[in-house]
Amino acid sequence: MIRPPGTPVDPPPDRHTGRVDERAADAAEPQGADFVRELVRRDNADGTYSGRVQTRFPPEPNGYLHIGHAKAITLDFELAREFGGICNLRFDDTNPDTEDTAFVDGILEDLAWLGYPIDTEPLYASDYFEQLYTWAELLIERGLAYVDDSDSETISAGRGGYGKPGVDSEWRDRSVEENLDLFRRMRAGEFAEGSRVLRARIDMQHENMQMRDPVMYRIRHERHHRTGDAWHIYPTYDWAHGQSDAIEGVTHSLCTLEFDSHRPLYDWYLEQLPLSGDTPRQTEFARLELTHTVTSKRRLAGLVADGVVDGWDDPRMPTLRGLRRRGYPAAAIREFCAFIGVSRTNSRHQIELLESFVRQHLNRTAQRRMAVLDPIRLVITDWPEGRVDEVELTNNPEDPADGTRRVAFTGELWIERDDFRADPPPKYFRLTPGREVRLRGAYLITCTGFDVGSDGEPTVIYATHDPESRGGNAPDGRKVKSTMHWVSADHAIEGTAALYERLFSAEVPGEATGDPMDDLDRTSLDLRTGCRFEPALADTPPGAVVQFERLGYFAHDPREPMLFHRTVGLRDEWARLQQRA
Ligand code: ATP
Ligand code: MG
Repeated sequence: MIRPPGTPVDPPPDRHTGRVDERAADAAEPQGADFVRELVRRDNADGTYSGRVQTRFPPEPNGYLHIGHAKAITLDFELAREFGGICNLRFDDTNPDTEDTAFVDGILEDLAWLGYPIDTEPLYASDYFEQLYTWAELLIERGLAYVDDSDSETISAGRGGYGKPGVDSEWRDRSVEENLDLFRRMRAGEFAEGSRVLRARIDMQHENMQMRDPVMYRIRHERHHRTGDAWHIYPTYDWAHGQSDAIEGVTHSLCTLEFDSHRPLYDWYLEQLPLSGDTPRQTEFARLELTHTVTSKRRLAGLVADGVVDGWDDPRMPTLRGLRRRGYPAAAIREFCAFIGVSRTNSRHQIELLESFVRQHLNRTAQRRMAVLDPIRLVITDWPEGRVDEVELTNNPEDPADGTRRVAFTGELWIERDDFRADPPPKYFRLTPGREVRLRGAYLITCTGFDVGSDGEPTVIYATHDPESRGGNAPDGRKVKSTMHWVSADHAIEGTAALYERLFSAEVPGEATGDPMDDLDRTSLDLRTGCRFEPALADTPPGAVVQFERLGYFAHDPREPMLFHRTVGLRDEWARLQQRA
């Protein structure tokens, strides 16, 4: 069942009385009925892990978190919370080439912003390097791992393919002593990168390619962001991940579907090790994909490196820091993730759905302001010279407690160029010669004429006002068809508005050609300088979001004063798409 955003989720009726307990919805009780929660309930019922629930979120610190990670984060942390367990943050830092402490710090910051502050020291896979090494020697001693001197092409060719048997490496039957000696010298840094690897000795004919003697260690003479130059060999994801889970006591190791085929290897490694009690189990769920969005960290890093966007926090980026700068409330992202739920089927959600959660939040919380993004001058010819009216406007009609503000109204104003037409098309109800309209909260005005420049375009618009219509309504109750926003020319402050199109114009970037970059819209930023803002906008705190009347929600840039990013427009595109479907 799809509920539109904003539909409250009814608490379930009490099983015995049939009554609905209003508190049930808030209680820290697992409410979800997805397959992961079902699995945990079953484990708890069976006494597996003695009812203990421990998850982990394992980002690799080679980039910042994105909207896809938000799905994994909310699943891992909320599941632990619902079942009274814990969720570890563990940096999966096994690749010294691309990892950096700047990403570690950024990930911690983004997690806290999303609502999951880490109040203990984060954990690192690199903390387990010594234990992993000891276990690797144990596998060698038991004839379950060997040093392979083949180059990577040979290893790759030898693994065969689907329906194509693998071939045993010529180094597969080395003695334990020779393997141990070589592996120790690999660790000591005696060999060149790429000259040798350590492989698990499983089965080169296994139907699952992951089981055909997978690589456990590679030689890398690279400085690691935490262990420095201590290591010359680094464990692969598969060798590090399940073992790290086991060391920490993880019970449910949740990852995305592409690791499905790695599960037998995850289990095999754990079975070979001297571990007591119930070992962790891996469960896969579908990745979050959004239309018009790319979530591969490699691609996002590429956009940053190529200067296509203005850093990882560019408001067009699907990174948490990009969305934050764009004005997305963290709660809206969490609610979106809860709404889409978890399943085992890959699917792509419409970005309009996420935006609709954002809009719904902002509608409740954002104060209304007036801003003119494409200004043209309006002169009220019968306005008394020098007179300034203070009109009172509601900050947020959705939240009366948010109060009102006073805005100066004078005889010279800025209005949107698009709100005037010399020759109006049919059904154009805004300003045109002879037409009366309302200036929001101020007066009814009637257009009396306009000047044009040498290019024939209007430069100044003239109007008269009805002094009896203060507040925007005439005493005789006559109606006007449109209400327009405005800013007093004498009081306006200048600023910039950044309007955004989708960074990728195609719904599924790369669908047509295979390369998402072919769908990149390099003109997706429309920077409007010379906007005229009502003075109160100068007091908008950095990062806060306001609604520009009639134009959408806009977030004040965290660093640059008077730069506003359009978060989302006012219209619920998702509702429209639903109606069409
Ligand atoms: P990428 O492919 O972008 O590099 P990754 O999976 O390698 O992503 P990690 O930092 O290793 O990135 O991911 C940490 C966790 O987040 C993993 O458990 C991963 O499964 C999960 N994750 C990453 N991308 C998504 C996504 N799009 N949807 C759901 N979970 C995701
Ligand atoms: Mg990864």
